[in-house]
Amino acid sequence: MLYDVRFRCNHVHTMALTGQAEDRARKIAWYSQMICPECRAHFSALHPDSMPAFRAFTVPARSM
Ligand SMILES: [Zn+2]
Repeated sequence: MLYDVRFRCNHVHTMALTGQAEDRARKIAWYSQMICPECRAHFSALHPDSMPAFRAFTVPARSM
């Protein structure tokens, strides 16, 4: 089923949620704690240095 889910950044995205009513409610609650995929992509493009997981892959091995 498609649901209009409001994310932490206050954007609403239509998400396809499956499972029992209980599972869907849990996913909606989980999404409301997160920023939406669009904002996440935007943020990581603007601030690659603030993403520790990303930085770990960009440090050359020889600098260690
Ligand atoms: Zn957003």
